[in-house]
Amino acid sequence: MATRLSIAVAGAGIGGLATAIALRLAGHDVCVFDRFDRPRPVGSGLVVQPVGQRVLDWLGAGTRARALGTPVLRLYGREAVTGAGTLDVRYDAAGPGLHGLGMHRASLFAALHERLLALGLRVTPATEITGSVLAPGGRVLLTGGGRIGPFDLIVDALGSHSPLSPLIACPLPYGALWTTLHWPETGIPADRLSQRYRAARRMVGVLPIGRKPDDDKPLAAFFWSLRGDHLADWQARGLAPWKAEALDLWPELAPFLAQIEDPAQMTLARYSHGTLRRPWAERLVHLGDSAHRASPQLGQGANMALLDALALARALDQAPLDDALPLFWRMRRGHLTVYQAASRFLTPQYQSDSAAIAWFRDRIVAPVGRVPPFPRLLGAIASGIAVPPLAGEPHIKGQPVPPDWAMDGRRDG
Ligand SMILES: Cc1cc2nc3c(=O)[nH]c(=O)nc-3n(C[C@H](O)[C@H](O)[C@H](O)COP(=O)(O)OP(=O)(O)OC[C@H]3O[C@@H](n4cnc5c(N)ncnc54)[C@H](O)[C@@H]3O)c2cc1C
Repeated sequence: MATRLSIAVAGAGIGGLATAIALRLAGHDVCVFDRFDRPRPVGSGLVVQPVGQRVLDWLGAGTRARALGTPVLRLYGREAVTGAGTLDVRYDAAGPGLHGLGMHRASLFAALHERLLALGLRVTPATEITGSVLAPGGRVLLTGGGRIGPFDLIVDALGSHSPLSPLIACPLPYGALWTTLHWPETGIPADRLSQRYRAARRMVGVLPIGRKPDDDKPLAAFFWSLRGDHLADWQARGLAPWKAEALDLWPELAPFLAQIEDPAQMTLARYSHGTLRRPWAERLVHLGDSAHRASPQLGQGANMALLDALALARALDQAPLDDALPLFWRMRRGHLTVYQAASRFLTPQYQSDSAAIAWFRDRIVAPVGRVPPFPRLLGAIASGIAVPPLAGEPHIKGQPVPPDWAMDGRRDG
């Protein structure tokens, strides 16, 4: 390590917890702040892609994450009316043994938080961060009640509404209603993300997400694509006509829908796209959703935050602070740019009002995707390894990232 720094991590979400662990492992003095009154996650489930699992291993949280999550071998979706096979991505096409890890957010949070505690760190709760300023001796965090610091470096991991980030992301018309359900007795396979579409106007999906830390029952993340400006209509319609429409789209959904008895069970997630051109300033760096946002169509957001955390720790290891922040961005920029572009290309194919785009998806993109080498490429894109995740890192140069990717020999357990 070059110099031992005092670092404040603002935000204890996926990126913030991962950053705090990575920086602590690198020997820095780390404090973590969040607005929540006690550590807790928000939201339903997600897929930690193979590249994100590697980062979890390196952080020492991989074994716990795998114990709570469930393997996702395939991403599969069909057009409900025409029956066209629209989406079919197999992770192992990109390398033997590769798979996603379906997880409830609470479980991913628990795996990271437990590791944080094991390293002797605590999240300081009930801290509403409103800004930051340079001061003698470093940068200071501004909170509702005063100032904290100074610190050598502040890491902005405050997510998509960060008051520290200048990013103005472009809101997307479509978001999705999400909820967590029990995985019922069903013919829908529990080893994949399954989706049904009607053109690109409708999309419904179920994702197996393993279990919560305090409960053994297998869970599902259930989502229904919805235009943000149609939320009030959806709420006004009531559940019965919506369930009828969903069953018409996909009759096998019945045991999932039976668990939804109140519209309040469904939460609308709004999506946006955008990336900071320069995600750092003097003694301040932005990572995760505060630096770059994309719709979750490619399921990469958590992985991006995990990779950012790792890149920042590596950069601070290799260069003094002033040079480390641009180095961090050089490591991450290429990978992020490719994935942001892929997300922009894919999102309207699944969430838009355009019949032409849906036609293009089913008649051109999907058939081409079945012809070699595209299955391998699609598997690599989903895995997060279509381009090197951390440019210039000797341990992960080359494609695809080998299944035995180990960094500094620092592995889980
Ligand atoms: C519906 C949905 C599905 C998704 N599916 C996937 C998927 O399958 N795979 C995937 O990789 N990604 C997925 N993502 C994206 C992923 O969830 C995000 O990219 C990831 O959570 C970003 O992590 P983060 O640490 O930047 O922000 P967050 O995880 O949002 O954490 C931000 C933290 O900052 C705290 N905070 C915010 N503001 C303040 C403040 N002012 N003061 C103090 N604390 C504050 C919050 O309490 C929170 O703890 C999905 C996102 C959504 C919305």
